[in-house]
Amino acid sequence: MNEEPPEHFRAYQHVWVFVEVERGQVHPVSWELMGAGRRLADKLGVLLAGVVIGAPDGGTSEAVAEAFCYGADRVYLCEDPILAHYRNEPYTTALKNIVNSFKPEILLLGATNLGRDLAGSVATTLLTGLTADCTELDVNADGSLGATRPTFGGSLLCTIYTLNSRPQMATVRPRVMPMPARVERPLGPVTPCRLLMDEKDIVTKVLSFVADREASMANLAYADIVVAGGLGLQSAGNVQLVRNLALSLGAEFGGSRPLVQKGWIDSDRQIGQTGKTIRPKLYIAAGISGAIQHRVGVEGADLIVAINTDPNAPIFDFAHLGVVADAIQLLPALTETFRRRLSPHS
Ligand code: FAD
Repeated sequence: MNEEPPEHFRAYQHVWVFVEVERGQVHPVSWELMGAGRRLADKLGVLLAGVVIGAPDGGTSEAVAEAFCYGADRVYLCEDPILAHYRNEPYTTALKNIVNSFKPEILLLGATNLGRDLAGSVATTLLTGLTADCTELDVNADGSLGATRPTFGGSLLCTIYTLNSRPQMATVRPRVMPMPARVERPLGPVTPCRLLMDEKDIVTKVLSFVADREASMANLAYADIVVAGGLGLQSAGNVQLVRNLALSLGAEFGGSRPLVQKGWIDSDRQIGQTGKTIRPKLYIAAGISGAIQHRVGVEGADLIVAINTDPNAPIFDFAHLGVVADAIQLLPALTETFRRRLSPHS
């Protein structure tokens, strides 16, 4: 790490964040990354730029304006009707071309479905390193990015450096980095970039778009209140107790990984290292032991309430409030109490 960086690395400067726009909406992870990118850029004394890719009128103008409000010093904008729906080929070409033209030192993307797909193909096309699902990002004075992520099933954290290529790429899952404050700012410099692709050269065609069966699932990561169950629920039927409490609180519900493996809940509702990271104001965990792989997904919550029959369960080491009780008994009582308190006339 103490060796002089290769000469050609000097051409690569600045920190970039891919601003993910899909169906007119910016994924909030883009702004979380803008906050992380700002810290890296300030430490290196370089600029922070956003990269917006999409169809004209497809929410790109709003995304550009917002990027400045979340701290970007500059935005690279590639607009083309071909980019109306996410497709790997044209998006990879667009991002690759912008990188090759303007050479960022660091490129960050959200570890969303879109971001993971795009980051992998851009990194392989550019023959550079990509560290996926990072939990921490830091830079050394020489510009090398230390991208930290869990390894060995979450029992260890490792910091990965991209030694021989640029840019240095990393993805970060939604809710891992805190959301920075939005500050009203005027538009800054926008660099337009051209796609230079023809629709007939793209093999993937979008024939129609069908919304997710349960669109609210995506909200788990951003919900203010989350109620989750673990194996302590003891049966698939008892998952309904967690759902009922969530409903009475206007909350989202989720669960630990074994519930997904048993088919008691959908995989989109898994919370933890290989599921969703959440940062709610209130997290209620019922019958969850608090294994490290679960803990890493919930420890950003403001208030963690754990219900467990075992007073020595590891979850009590990081819960703010612990209730030693049978969740199967307690959940219906809590649901009834909240129902009466929150909608007294029902
Ligand atoms: P258990 O560990 O079996 O705990 C059940 C708890 O319920 C116990 O503490 C018990 O005391 C309590 N209990 C029993 N009966 C009752 C009752 N009636 N009322 C109240 N409490 C009761 N796990 C995740 O959750 N998310 C992940 O993303 C994830 N990713 C993983 C990735 C890898 C690579 C690996 C190796 C593991 C991962 N795991 C993940 C699994 C993790 O290690 C644990 O096995 C899992 O979190 C345990 O789930 P649990 O707490 O529901 O079950």
